[in-house]
Amino acid sequence: MKKRYAELTSLPAETTDGHKVMLVANISTHLDVEAAVTNFGAEGVGLFRSEFLFMGKSEAPDEETQFQAYKDAVEKCDGNLCVIRTMDIGGDKPLPYLNIPKEENPFLGWRALRICLSRRDIFMPQVKAILRAGVYGKAAIMLPMVIRLSEIDKVKQIVAEAKVLLAQENKPFSDSVQLGIMVETPAAAVMTPIFAKHVDFFSIGTNDLIQYTLAVDRVNSNVSYLYDPFNPGVLALIKRTIDSANENKIWAGMCGEMASDPMAAVILMAMGITELSMSAPSIPRVKELIRKVSMAEAKEAMNKIMEMEHASDIKEYLQEKFGSKK
Ligand code: PEP
Ligand code: MG
Repeated sequence: MKKRYAELTSLPAETTDGHKVMLVANISTHLDVEAAVTNFGAEGVGLFRSEFLFMGKSEAPDEETQFQAYKDAVEKCDGNLCVIRTMDIGGDKPLPYLNIPKEENPFLGWRALRICLSRRDIFMPQVKAILRAGVYGKAAIMLPMVIRLSEIDKVKQIVAEAKVLLAQENKPFSDSVQLGIMVETPAAAVMTPIFAKHVDFFSIGTNDLIQYTLAVDRVNSNVSYLYDPFNPGVLALIKRTIDSANENKIWAGMCGEMASDPMAAVILMAMGITELSMSAPSIPRVKELIRKVSMAEAKEAMNKIMEMEHASDIKEYLQEKFGSKK
């Protein structure tokens, strides 16, 4: 790591006029937490991609195996929040033992929460494991691919049932595990004023939100030139999500790749986001820029770009305004 980045590890992500943002880590296994915290200064975990526990195996991990992994991650967050995303399989991540039938459009198919809600045998052990891990620190359950309120209601029902089962089994669990959703479909972004009344937080998953909003396959290089976080349509959905969160007094974060772009981070902060989650090595460079700007100039830039009609103009403006500070 560059020396100037190493010096930032213990400093807060705070603007020159005292506004703080939480910079947290995206992880694939519980073993990633320690380095994220110690080496890169992550203030917790904003996205634990739990599906990696399910991959490369011949069957789903049982409750105990998951509990040990989540407990370790939660403990290593050392009092900060550890957001555990429920299994997000399907789309680009297959899982042989689930026997997902061949689909014409796997990204629009039976994936993520859709699988969990139809496979209680897979989902219940995961929910129980997260509730148990919550005893050892601060844990949150985060649902991917939400498109309608009934999905949230069904998960709440399952969480309630999980607590009854845990009580019967005499296993300690936390009653204060937050429940949030990823905003990664256009429907979810549009419905955030409704969803905000039913969940504890939003985390914007731009990797998928961009794909679904722009109808651009995130893994197809033929159309990658169209895949743009600064497309005004995408920015409008992001702003709507953050506004809905703030109006309803819940918190909003981002765990898609966009959060690791320092100039995007400044704009998101101006929109009122409270947490940015990224691969841990990106934390220092995002922090470095945040510490060089004021909230006042970030807001001015945000207001300017929200009036712009072309992503190219937005990027040129941000480069001019903040490029020399990076
Ligand atoms: C996202 O979609 O932005 C996200 C963080 O999830 P994943 O990349 O795992 O789909
Ligand atoms: Mg996603």
